[in-house]
Amino acid sequence: MNFVDIILPRPLQNLFTYRITPDEAHFLQPGMRVAVPFGKSKIATGIVAGIHRKQPTAYQVKDIYQILDKEAIVTEMQIKHWQWLAKYYMCTLGEVLKAALPAAFLLESETLVLKNKKFKEEHLLNNDEFLIVEALEKQPVLPVKKIKDIVDKKRILPILNTLLGKNAIVLKEEVVEQYSPKLVKYVRLHHNYNNEEQLQYLLDNLSKAPQQRHAVLTYFSIKGITQKPVSKKKLREASQVSSSVIKSLIEKEIFEIYTVQTDRVKYENATEAIKKLTKHQNAAYEQINLHFEQNKVVLLKGITSSGKTEIYVKLISKTIKKGQQVLYLLPEIALTAQLILRLQKYFGNKIAVFHSKYSLKERVEVWKNVLLGKESAQIVLGVRSSVFLPFKDLGLIIIDEEHETSFKQFDPAPRYHARDAAVVLAHNHKANVLMGSATPSVESFYNVTQKKYALVELTERYKKVQLPEVNLIDIKEGFRKKRMKGHFSEALFKLIEDTLIENKQVILFQNRRGYSPIVECTSCGISPQCVNCDVSLTYHKLRNELQCHYCGYTIAMPKTCKACGNPTLNTKGFGTEQIEMEMKGLFPEANVGRMDLDTTRGKYGYEKIINAFQAREIDVLVGTQMLSKGLDFAHVAMVGVMNADNLLNFPDFRAHERCFQLLVQVSGRAGRAEKQGKVFIQTFNPYHRILQQVTTNDYAAMYKEQIYERHQYKYPPFVRMIGVTLKHKDFIKVNTAADWVYKSLFNVFKDGVLGPTSPAVGRIRNQYIKNLLIKLPTDIPLYKSKLAIQKIKNSFESIAEFRSVRFNVDVDPY
Ligand code: ADP
Ligand code: ZN
Repeated sequence: MNFVDIILPRPLQNLFTYRITPDEAHFLQPGMRVAVPFGKSKIATGIVAGIHRKQPTAYQVKDIYQILDKEAIVTEMQIKHWQWLAKYYMCTLGEVLKAALPAAFLLESETLVLKNKKFKEEHLLNNDEFLIVEALEKQPVLPVKKIKDIVDKKRILPILNTLLGKNAIVLKEEVVEQYSPKLVKYVRLHHNYNNEEQLQYLLDNLSKAPQQRHAVLTYFSIKGITQKPVSKKKLREASQVSSSVIKSLIEKEIFEIYTVQTDRVKYENATEAIKKLTKHQNAAYEQINLHFEQNKVVLLKGITSSGKTEIYVKLISKTIKKGQQVLYLLPEIALTAQLILRLQKYFGNKIAVFHSKYSLKERVEVWKNVLLGKESAQIVLGVRSSVFLPFKDLGLIIIDEEHETSFKQFDPAPRYHARDAAVVLAHNHKANVLMGSATPSVESFYNVTQKKYALVELTERYKKVQLPEVNLIDIKEGFRKKRMKGHFSEALFKLIEDTLIENKQVILFQNRRGYSPIVECTSCGISPQCVNCDVSLTYHKLRNELQCHYCGYTIAMPKTCKACGNPTLNTKGFGTEQIEMEMKGLFPEANVGRMDLDTTRGKYGYEKIINAFQAREIDVLVGTQMLSKGLDFAHVAMVGVMNADNLLNFPDFRAHERCFQLLVQVSGRAGRAEKQGKVFIQTFNPYHRILQQVTTNDYAAMYKEQIYERHQYKYPPFVRMIGVTLKHKDFIKVNTAADWVYKSLFNVFKDGVLGPTSPAVGRIRNQYIKNLLIKLPTDIPLYKSKLAIQKIKNSFESIAEFRSVRFNVDVDPY
């Protein structure tokens, strides 16, 4: 008899074995999808891991329902990588699979299906397909398990797969993404009128149409003052003409309409040759290549705006000329928009983008193109989950902004670090790895000192522009003498004023969104809390709401205190929304924009803001740490940090490192193109060491101090750590469980176990949380320690009392 081992996208320790016919055994290959029965009456999609003849003895084997692919969609190389991930990060292969594969590949009983409203080609459907689409007309959302009553259940998944392919249905998860971007329309003079002569001719000609002539002249005067793109709306307002006047100017090809957009689906061909590197850049490039020849992972430590990206470009170009694939990892979706534009100029339609704001269909498409080694996906630009893609012949992985925490996934499992996963991936493919950062993580720099990675440095900004001058502003005095304008010190206010007069742009950084993180009653001192989490609700003034930033719980802003009934609610602390409002009040002439989680929802959320800032529609951009990550704007002359103090107090052994990185990175957005930029950091602690190190951009001092402390207090990279998190809705139960786990861990790891402690927010979504931290002994092999923890987890899960308590393991929990 023939059997097949299947990876199911579930947290199961073991693979599941099903029976197959000899024909199926002949046809099936590892990496193909099959639909299988699971549980009492469920259907699931899984991936074939192996085919064999060993009958399992522990359970009754079932038959598979159906083979879903003609060819493998997952490569053996990937399965090998996923096995490593599962083992290293102590999770199951099923959990890795679920994270790795776009959901559209993994239909199962619970998946919700909708009709695609845009689908009009019913005539392309066969009978079964038509029946399903018809059912979805009557009832707009149906789970797969309901649809399977319509057609034979063994065949349901293949039919749904074809329907997805034909674009007739969509999965519930992607519905949120179903809208198109609203792009601002700008007008400019048609290129027919590029020279003086033609222009004069035009104006003479228009003397018979005074309104139109007036509109053209107004266009020039706006353009002359601001040098910025002129939107249709702005032109209409400034010239006071009706939109029909502008319309006829466009029809007569005197004006033309254009949009600033980053359409990622339809790429143009490459339009530019790659930049000629400067002498320093070229030296770095050569060094990198030398290290690559010796199969070294390279850390490129280059100050902000030194041209790291241009070096990546040259390396990418070299790799794709050899016909190999490139993976370009970015920490944040926000960055892809800008980088696509940059890379597209050099590589045209060879770039594919992969991240979660893409629809499932787009993600499936990228997956397939990578799998088939298509040219259109030769360069993949993506966030951490792109390490799961089915690369065929990977030649180079670039990990940009290597130090960023968003490369680490905290929840759910696999709790992996994309940088580390990428190094292993590259090793499997014999590909090169280049990590880049202006502020490398302490662990990566330590790897350099240990000769594990090679170091290449760039110490000069392109065109020798000086690094921004960083000033610390003590706001204690300002507050005491009541000389603050809202949250702006006199000095910061003045600098913003001067910058705007010079027609330059401003970035203001505040690490909190919303209007204020706390609302407090001045009569009784009570502040409104989330009902699901142990945290104060954040006030959002524009929406007049209180919102929980952990679970999304929202209520209207009450007029009176719920506790004492007095109308004395006051706000405490401030977020980006408040800064935006203050800014608008202080500088009514300036266009103020905001970039944080609230303004960047939706598929094109980031693009809209980044494009508007780039097009200089926005003069002042207020934002959270999203702003700090590698964005390149040429006209930003200054950066203001509204309050550095809450950055100094991260509850984490990396607090200082993080704070340094964040501030140096934010500062790096200033003065990138021509003149030296300025950075003002407001703080109550101007003598804090880290802030001093930021002002002198002294990475070496920061590193030396941090590495000393880690050695002294036994933190990574000197010890390895594993975190255990317990969660349950019953406070007492989670405490009892934590004590049990502590005792068991203590038996093995003794003083290496820290905790149990409650995190800063001790209850989230009604789950109480307890954390334990294990510092692993250095004299015992890693796998043995992991095995011991796994055993404790297994016994924990077999205790009836703790059945419903979640036990999460996080390897390298930082
Ligand atoms: P980094 O990635 O180190 O922050 P970038 O690669 O973004 O730096 O470079 C900063 C700016 O300088 C970019 O606008 C880039 O195009 C420009 N630049 C850097 N090197 C060169 C070069 N060799 N020739 C032309 N422009 C360059
Ligand atoms: Zn909440």
